[in-house]
Amino acid sequence: MNDPRAVQEADVLVIGGGLHGTSSAFHMARRGAKVIVLEADYVARHSSGVNAGGVRTLGRPLPEIPLALMSREIWHDMTERIGEDGGFVPSGQLKIAETDDELEDCRKRVALLESHGFTHEKVIDRETVLDLEPALARHVTGGIWVERDGYALPFRTTTAFRLAAQRLGVRFLEGTPVRRIEQRGTRWFAHTPQGAFSAEKLLVTAGAWSGELAKQVGESVPVHPEGLMLMVTHRVAPFCRATLGATGRPLSFKQFDNGTVVIGGKLIGIAELANRHGEVDFMRLVRSAQTVTDLFPHLRHLGVNRAWAGVEAFTEDELPVISASRKASNLYYSFGYCGSGFQLGPGCGQLVSELMLDGTPSISLDAFAVDRFDRHETASAASARHLATH
Ligand SMILES: Cc1cc2nc3c(=O)[nH]c(=O)nc-3n(C[C@H](O)[C@H](O)[C@H](O)COP(=O)(O)OP(=O)(O)OC[C@H]3O[C@@H](n4cnc5c(N)ncnc54)[C@H](O)[C@@H]3O)c2cc1C
Repeated sequence: MNDPRAVQEADVLVIGGGLHGTSSAFHMARRGAKVIVLEADYVARHSSGVNAGGVRTLGRPLPEIPLALMSREIWHDMTERIGEDGGFVPSGQLKIAETDDELEDCRKRVALLESHGFTHEKVIDRETVLDLEPALARHVTGGIWVERDGYALPFRTTTAFRLAAQRLGVRFLEGTPVRRIEQRGTRWFAHTPQGAFSAEKLLVTAGAWSGELAKQVGESVPVHPEGLMLMVTHRVAPFCRATLGATGRPLSFKQFDNGTVVIGGKLIGIAELANRHGEVDFMRLVRSAQTVTDLFPHLRHLGVNRAWAGVEAFTEDELPVISASRKASNLYYSFGYCGSGFQLGPGCGQLVSELMLDGTPSISLDAFAVDRFDRHETASAASARHLATH
């Protein structure tokens, strides 16, 4: 009989069964790697299963744009790749300007992108905005439109990647929290209450909990948790097709086919890392509801059905860490997606598989290196010294 306490072996261990863990596992298994995913709770329990589902290249920081554009092509090809579309609807994404100054900011943003060769964001005038979304309040002045963006269903997408990975032989162990990682010789060991697991390569996709694991190998990453909130309304007759954001205030807004409206936009609630739980701050939700009724006055009396908060990982510079460790060999990170990692999941999973199996990803990940914070620290320390001596 097999010893249940025997170390279970694979080529790659993945810690964390969110979208980045499941997508990376899928893409590595596709290349023939034997992969085990260790998940503390259950797959898609945290951000990856409870987010707003925005598939948005619009408004990305410059270093993320190549990744987001590459990922978007996978979204459009999802059924081909993993056997189902994750509920993806290419609704387009629209960022609304409410004043002339905001519209000017939109123009400057798009001009900046064009100067870097990116042409996916288009400035549109007030009439075009109102043609696209006739129910919007009349005070809008224009906006930015990205036709190939959209939204998808988070739990369904993450589960679809999990099932596709399982079909390629990936094993998922849920209720299996990794308490300690260590490298012995050429192998990594992950210790859990359910026993030890070992592989040559280790990937940390543990979301807001990743910093704790990196610390175990002496890699200090400035990552902190936030409890991001969303609310969903009662059903209402169809009035909005695109996924919406705003230029001057936080907003993420979409109406599903069943009539419900999901409202969010980096609304910060409470994150309880130790309890693995996010808590809603209702006073802050009220402010967001105000933005929505300013833009769609006819929703003033629409009831809210449910609100929730998910625990998300944020970094100091609002960019993710997608990188080989600088402290240990064969250790890799993909975390810190700062409220925008759902759209990136399919693409980053592929890039991480290239980084881990080939050493060179097809798109440069230099901007996401784990040691960039040390460099920033050094640069700001140098600048502080410079100021102090002049
Ligand atoms: C309310 C909300 C709205 C959002 N809206 C959008 C949006 O519209 N568009 C968009 O692109 N992004 C959005 N995001 C962000 C997006 O959901 C995340 O960036 C993305 O899901 C992160 O995926 P992940 O796999 O890195 O992390 P997670 O989904 O957090 O997965 C990490 C997993 O690791 C597990 N884990 C942690 N520690 C351990 C351990 N020691 N051992 C084993 N397992 C462990 C956790 O249990 C968890 O399941 C939103 C997020 C939230 C919370």
